[in-house]
Parts: sequence; C-alpha cells; structure tokens
Amino acid sequence: MTLMQLESYAGGQWVGPSGKTRKIHSAVTGVELAEAGSDDLNFQEMLDHAKRKGGPALRAMTFHDRARMLKSLATYLNERRDPLYELSYKTGATLADSKVDIDGGIGTMFVFASKGRREMPDAHIYPDGDLEILSRNGTFLGQHYCTPLLGVAVHINAFNFPVWGMLEKLAPTLLAGVPAIVKPATSTSYLTEACVKMMVESGILPEGAIQLICGGTGDLLDRLDCQDVVSFTGSASTASYLRSNKNILDNSVRFVAEQDSLNASVLGPDATPDTPEFDLFIKEASREITTKAGQKCTAIRRMIVPNTQVQNVIDAMSVRLDKTTIGDPSVEGTRMGALASLDQKRDVLEKAAEIGTECKLAYGNQDTLTLNGDGLENGAFVSPMLFHCEDPDNASIVHSTEAFGPVATVMGYRDVAHAIELMNKGGGSLVASVITNDPEIAQEITIKAGPFHGRLYFNNRTSMKESTGHGSPLPHMVHGGPGRAGGGEELGGVRGVTHYMQRLAVQGSPDILTGIGGTYVKGATFIDPPAHPFTRTFHELQIGETVHTASRKVTIEDIEHFAHFTGDNFYAHMDEEAAAANPFFPGRVAHGYLLLSFAAGLFVEPNPGPVLANTGLNDLTFQKPVSADDEVRVSLTVKRKTKRTDEYGEVRWHVNMFNQNDEQVAEYELLTMVAFERT
Ligand code: NDP
Repeated sequence: MTLMQLESYAGGQWVGPSGKTRKIHSAVTGVELAEAGSDDLNFQEMLDHAKRKGGPALRAMTFHDRARMLKSLATYLNERRDPLYELSYKTGATLADSKVDIDGGIGTMFVFASKGRREMPDAHIYPDGDLEILSRNGTFLGQHYCTPLLGVAVHINAFNFPVWGMLEKLAPTLLAGVPAIVKPATSTSYLTEACVKMMVESGILPEGAIQLICGGTGDLLDRLDCQDVVSFTGSASTASYLRSNKNILDNSVRFVAEQDSLNASVLGPDATPDTPEFDLFIKEASREITTKAGQKCTAIRRMIVPNTQVQNVIDAMSVRLDKTTIGDPSVEGTRMGALASLDQKRDVLEKAAEIGTECKLAYGNQDTLTLNGDGLENGAFVSPMLFHCEDPDNASIVHSTEAFGPVATVMGYRDVAHAIELMNKGGGSLVASVITNDPEIAQEITIKAGPFHGRLYFNNRTSMKESTGHGSPLPHMVHGGPGRAGGGEELGGVRGVTHYMQRLAVQGSPDILTGIGGTYVKGATFIDPPAHPFTRTFHELQIGETVHTASRKVTIEDIEHFAHFTGDNFYAHMDEEAAAANPFFPGRVAHGYLLLSFAAGLFVEPNPGPVLANTGLNDLTFQKPVSADDEVRVSLTVKRKTKRTDEYGEVRWHVNMFNQNDEQVAEYELLTMVAFERT
C-alpha cells in the first residue's frame, strides 16, 4: 500500500514531506498509512506570506464580510463530509465520534458566521462595552475598541479532534481578520490535511488566510512578535515547554493554552437511585468514558458521589459499560473505537496503572478485551476502566494524573462542602458537571467551585432532554480553564474573536469617537438632513443626521385619556395626593409610555417611504417626570447603520426628549429597517 504523502500548504503551494519524516499508522489495524515531515519549510516565508497577503485581504473586509465568508466555507465543507468520515475511521473514531469532530467543527463555524453578523458591526473595529463619560460637559469621552492584530495566529492542535480542533480556532481567528498557520498533531494530521485541502480548493478564503504544517514547527515560534498569537491544545508538559520559549516570553507573544484536566462530575445528594437524576448521571458518565474512547479534553475523569451511593454507581456503570461493543469503528455495532495511536495506548495503560496504585479497579479488563471486527490485533484498543478511590482526601494521583482514554474513577463524599473540596483538588479544570435538582446546592457549588473551573454544567430532569452534554464545548460558551487546564480561554461567542484582537482604550471628543467608530456619539455635531430622514433611503442617510421636532404640550386630559384607554391607572398618574407623597414625583405625572407615543407622534413622517418597520427599542430611561402643562420636544439622530440584506438595512436612531426648560426627560435607541430603494 502506498503511503499518503502529507502535504503542508506554505506560501500558496502544496509541499510534500521533507527531511526527517514521521510514519503514521492506522489506529485500528496498526498498518502504516502516511508520512509527514516539514524540515524544508521556510517558516519566515510562511509568516511573511500570511502578513503580506492573508492579513491585508482579511482586514479589507468588514466583520460581516468575513462572517459571510465563514458561512460559505462551512456550507462548502458541510456538503463534503463523507470523504472526511472515511478517513476519520482510521483515527479510531466511530461515525458518532466523527460527527462530534467533523459536524461539530462545521457547526462551530456556522455559529461564528451567525454571531459575526448579529453581534458585531458591519465595520472594521469592534466596540467593547459602553461609552465612558470622562468629563462634566461630555466633551471628552472614552470607548474601548478591539482591532485585528496585524500578525498571524499559530494554531497547534491536539490529535483527538483533527477537524473540530482546527475549525474551533480558525472560525474566531478569521472573523477577527487574522490569518492562521495550522499545525495539527502529526498522528491524525491526514484528516486535517484533507479538510484544509477542501478549504483551499473552495477558493472562498483569500490567499494567505490559511497555511498548514504537516510535521514540526521548526523555529517558527522564535520568529513571532507581539502581533502574533499561539493557540495551543495538548499536554501540560508541551504547553509549558512552548510557552517558556525565550522569544515568546521576551516579546509577550500571546499564548493561549488548553491542556489536560481532571474534570469532575458530581452526583448531587438529592439524586438517589429512585430519581431521574441518578440514571442521567450514569448515562452522562458512561457516554463521557466511551465517546472518542475517552480522548476528550473535557471527559469525566473523577466521579464524585455521595458515600452512600458509591456501590450503586459502580454497579450501574458496570452494567452500562458492559453493553459497549468495542472494535473496528467502521463495523456495524461498534460503539467504541480505538485510541488514536499505539503511543496513546501505551500512555493510557501506564497512567491507568499509576492510578491503580492508589485506587481499586472496579470495572474493566484489558486482558479479556474482545473486539468487534477482523485484523485488529495491532490496533490501539483499550478496555473501559472504572476505578474506585476509597480515600480521596489522601490520594494524589487520582487528582493529578489524566489517563487520556476510557478511564474514570469513582470517589465518595460526605457532604456538599466535601464534594466541592474534591472537585477543586483537580487544580483547575475545563468543566465540572453537577447532577442535581436542588438550586441551593447549585448556588453553593457555583460560588465555591466556580473559581476552579472554566465551565459548570448543571443537569437534571428538567433539562436532560435538551442538554448538550457534559463534554461538549459550545461555540457560544467559554472553553478553557484555570490552573492545570492551561489558564486559557477559547470560544465564548464574540469573546473568542477578541482573543485575536487588541483591546484598546480610545479617548477623545464626541466627533472624534463618532468618526472612529462609525456610530453617532452623544454630543457630536448634528447634520441637518436635506429632507425628513424617514423619506431618505438607507444609503442616503448619514450618521449624525438629526431632526429637531416642534414642541407639544402635555395636558391633564392627555394623561386621563391614556389611563382610561390603556387601563394603566397607576396612582402616580391618577391620584394627586398619593403621587405627591412619592419621593420621585411632584404630583400626578404623565405615563412614560404616553411620552414615548408622543415622541413617535412628533418625529414620524406619516407617508409611505423607505422606513419599513420599527423593530425595537433599547436602553430606554426616563430622567425627569413630565407633569400636565409641560411641553416636550424630540431630537432624532441617525446613530448606526447595518446592512441586513440586499434590499434593506437596520438603522438605529438616538432619540432624546426634552422639556420646555431644555432638560432631558427621556432617552432611548430606536431600531428601524430602512429600504435601499424608494418604492
Ligand atoms: P502534545 O502536547 O505532545 O502535542 C500537542 C500538539 O503540540 C501537537 O500538535 C504536537 O505535534 C505539538 N507539539 C509537541 N511538541 C512540540 C514542539 N516541541 N513544538 C511545537 N509543537 C509541538 O500532546 P499529544 O497530542 O501527544 O497528547 C499527549 C497528552 O496530552 C494526551 O495523552 C493527553 O493527556 C493530553 N491531551 C490533552 C488534550 C486537551 O485538550 N486537554 C488534548 C489532547 C491531548 P506532534 O503531534 O507533531 O508532536
């Protein structure tokens, strides 16, 4: 059989293995499959190519352009999953495992594509948080912005998720506007290579946006600077070795690490065997042990259960694990495949033996393992193993050693405080789950165990049907954890994008900040529109265009009419004496919603025109009460424009209402959809 010659993609060229190459074996049969090597790659040229071509091309696009690009790319890959599944079997993955990896990666890209359009502006910089008022008269303000880094993201990925591991980093990186050099773990890099080939063939990404190294990174890390990011997933020892690279330290190169973690799952004291929570716990834990043969950074390693439930849990887990058919992942009926390589098998058996020095093996036997399929003698198969730790307070290996395979340990706790102590003994982890139907326990654990974990996953009878699983990092939620888990953070929606951007504080006048952000900042110069803004199309409207309306007197009849009409007879509007006794009001006052309606009545241009719909209202505040005989007027300013389709876009307006003394009485943001053309 000819070996696959894994190619790197460097400087716009596919380059075959060079120098000292490494052979890669099938996880299932042990036969040689491929070889990889990258000794002859010119890493400086790769960085230059990314910075000269990829970065500028990506940064010329807005967040929305890049989000649309991600959507096209995800759609392209989604239509080509079958050949990826075929290759994925060779990594030891079952079809269900491959779906987590391949579909999960593509799904992550879709989520970033959607979030980029919904939660980021159609612009080149991202405002982070609200405007800060830094002066009494509002002439000097502050705003935080995130701008794309001008360098390259180097992604060093683990062997266990050759596709998801790449795409979960690539999506936020590209959305930020930063090119990437991807270095997959060599043992499963043939699957990553196939996926990168698809992405390059698609022609959707600008040249230089992605490059691939199949092999080692040579002196790449010595060449990075403060505009670059290293995002690493793998073992703690490699993370610590790479992050202490002198160049990385000297230049404060960002280093994001996600590494081994002794994730815990707690069975709540309320979850006795007669409750749905008990079954849920057993189901979640056995799924975590067997999915991807336990090779998940988030897999449950420590099962922390009430002392009284230890034997029940071991018994129920044993029944369930017994039903797991292990073998060739491409053969029907197989529920758990092989580890990714023989090296991993050796490593897992060694680590399990270490755990065995302080815990008793309660389930699993490597010597009697029977396999589903033929020709599997040299495959990297390992029996699921369940240990029981009788003295978790004095044990140390079980809280510090991760066997990166289908291995977990059950340990008992006395009370919730003890369970929290054991959870935190992992020294920092990516995720901990708690199966409980008791919100008070959930609160105590969140406060006391939260600081040790990147994610807490509570599940019970209410959420179990729709919950996403202890071990599934979601693009919406932060993935990473303190201490042993690496101290890094990925994903988490737009947060994950900002890891590839520089957050900076910008200070200046309202006009300067309006110019920088493309969003009207209160206090900036108003622009007189040539006609009422509601008669102007999306493209005609300019940021800062403002209508100042005429005044309108608010009468006692208006207040009474509104009260009777809507049924809102709250005393502050209807009872002079009771209203006057309220510290907020001088006496009866107009309803806030009446003022909003008057505002619309004052600024609306009634005839059909480009304004299609009012889609919402944000940040409404009332600053001063309005009494009968007060007069109100409104200013309506174009604040921000966002293209939504090829026919219309969203226009956000800043609305201010003043009284006859020019005091502001109300303020809000109005959302409308405005057409590109007049009909
Ligand atoms: P490693 O830490 O050895 O490798 C992770 C990545 O780093 C791979 O891409 C690897 O490439 C690369 N790498 C290793 N050495 C260097 C170097 N000197 N310079 C640049 N890149 C380097 O982890 P493994 O993948 O071998 O897994 C080992 C253990 O790590 C597992 O048994 C498990 O305990 C843990 N792990 C944790 C994961 C998590 O998400 N928390 C995920 C996977 C593993 P190459 O393959 O070419 O060596």
